[in-house]
Amino acid sequence: MRSYKPFPENLDMITKKCAYNKCGRTFYTNNPKANVCCDNHRSKLFRELNKEKIEYMAKWKRVFANNARILKRLYNNKFTNVNTSELTIADFDLSVRDAQKESEDGRDCFQYFDYLLIKSKDNNGFEIRKATAK
Ligand SMILES: [Zn+2]
Repeated sequence: MRSYKPFPENLDMITKKCAYNKCGRTFYTNNPKANVCCDNHRSKLFRELNKEKIEYMAKWKRVFANNARILKRLYNNKFTNVNTSELTIADFDLSVRDAQKESEDGRDCFQYFDYLLIKSKDNNGFEIRKATAK
């Protein structure tokens, strides 16, 4: 793994724990940024972290699609003016949203597929509209 260095000032003096969770062994290094014990575990850790990212994105997409279904249901039931707690009761997750856009009349707006969630003029809630096809 690491080559022997004859100079005492170069000895691996920092004690670290391997960040790859199936390993977790203690190792010694002189690199303060090192987080894994070997190259093999560096690549395994990388794959593990990517896996979590992929799972996170899959969950995000599920919640986003659920949000869109909730907006559709509210819109179809003529609940087009809602506040934050009503959205929460409807199981809407406001933290999952795309980049903010601007509605036709210049208000903050989030799009969920065919539906728009637009900040109301008094800033106390939201208006649900159907997105117009362009
Ligand atoms: Zn390791």
